Amino acid sequence: MTSASIALIDPSTGDSLGSVPALDRDELDAALSETLAAQRAWRTTSLAERSELLRNVARMLRDEVEDHATLISREMGKPVTEARAEVLKCATTCDFYADHAEEFLSPKAVETEAATSFVAYEPLGVVLAVMPWNFPYWQVIRFAAPTLTAGNGGLLKHASNVTGSALAIESLFERAGYPKGLLRTLVLADHSLVNEIIADVRVAAVTLTGSEKAGASVAEAAGRALKKTVLELGGSDPFVILADADIAAVTPLAVRARFVNTGQSCLCAKRFIVEGDVIDRFEAGLKTAVEALKIGEPLDDATQIGPLAKPSFIDDIDRQVQESIAMGARLVTGGYRIDGPGNYYAPTVLADVTPDMPVFREETFGPVLALVRADSPAHAIELADDSQYGLAASVWTADMQAGIDLGLGIESGALFVNGVVVSDPRLPFGGVKLSGYGRELSVEGIREFTNVRSVWAG
Ligand code: NAP
Repeated sequence: MTSASIALIDPSTGDSLGSVPALDRDELDAALSETLAAQRAWRTTSLAERSELLRNVARMLRDEVEDHATLISREMGKPVTEARAEVLKCATTCDFYADHAEEFLSPKAVETEAATSFVAYEPLGVVLAVMPWNFPYWQVIRFAAPTLTAGNGGLLKHASNVTGSALAIESLFERAGYPKGLLRTLVLADHSLVNEIIADVRVAAVTLTGSEKAGASVAEAAGRALKKTVLELGGSDPFVILADADIAAVTPLAVRARFVNTGQSCLCAKRFIVEGDVIDRFEAGLKTAVEALKIGEPLDDATQIGPLAKPSFIDDIDRQVQESIAMGARLVTGGYRIDGPGNYYAPTVLADVTPDMPVFREETFGPVLALVRADSPAHAIELADDSQYGLAASVWTADMQAGIDLGLGIESGALFVNGVVVSDPRLPFGGVKLSGYGRELSVEGIREFTNVRSVWAG
């Protein structure tokens, strides 16, 4: 390995934010050993001790919210009001696991013919986390809070464009009192090294949040090494509006569901499937609301739409838009790159979208909303389910029970009726189909990287 470094670029200006040296081979080897040694000691600590440290992290995140939010906004362009919310949600999640660690991880007595029998939840060892840039703190905390509390160590291979956030999180855990190296950021010259790390005997398991391509590569390497994986991948979530829904109330929620994080969220609703003629009223309200979104500097409190995180994302999203228009989609608003510095793309609405178009078939990771007309509730559900992805779905209707009954016909890891899909530490989170497998958050998430051990003594 050469002495490579990672160049960091401000997506709102294209200016350099400096660079960070990547680990050389010896440093990488030492890091793996350090984390394994830290984990071996950590696994003997009590749940009470681990929870106390988690509470320290929560407190520090709240105290330092401005610093962390500023770093997020600078590195990947998230509007700062959303960056603050991300940091505070991380704090809430740390507190959640501190509150519930005993309940989720204490051995559970099970009655059998034995004198005593119980199920224990033991750590697996060191878990590698390959994480994306779109929620640079949340993705890591969602992994680290439960996984470390279960007695594991963590190696963080973060997306290279948020290396500053990765190092700040490593420092946060160390300052909160965690053993040095227990959560270690690996600044890698190239993600091709990930397969080598997965194969290393010091690594027990791997979790990845990112694209299907990266997920398949990691799963393949983990399969060869017979190591457990959790994969949180892409989504093309449907937002189904039935004819009886309150269109005026739903419209601002639809805008939020699609344009949060400038559209760069796996959980953003991407396909808006509307039953019958109410689609015309919905489209008119949507156009007004989308054109009113304030595009600007990520660090300005008034900004609602920031730049995309990397220049290449402009080309990706514009290709999907232009190809869909060429196939018959109607441009309602947007549809162009905004001139000037930074990776800005105009918030876009496409109507008359059909299932063969890229904005329906593929994941759109940017500010582009696709409107699809359905003839009936059954047709709306059929369209919603016509996707290779299965992360989450939402259904909007005056009849909540009908919404649940119909919505359960869409294969997905989550169904929300009359609510914008969000991840919540109290509920498990994950997908089916190409959206991945395994679960994060809640009790399911904290047990993913445990050895669920049965103990029987007669
Ligand atoms: P990405 O290109 O797959 O990158 C994600 C992480 O994987 C980065 O750390 C990246 O490192 C690494 N990586 C990329 N290719 C790899 C490979 N072949 N082997 C090992 N590691 C590899 O995805 P992204 O652009 O950062 O994130 C957007 C994607 O993530 C979208 O598809 C989105 O839906 C998905 N996502 C899913 C969830 C969820 O919870 N389901 C949440 C957020 C995002 P480098 O930066 O060094 O390339």
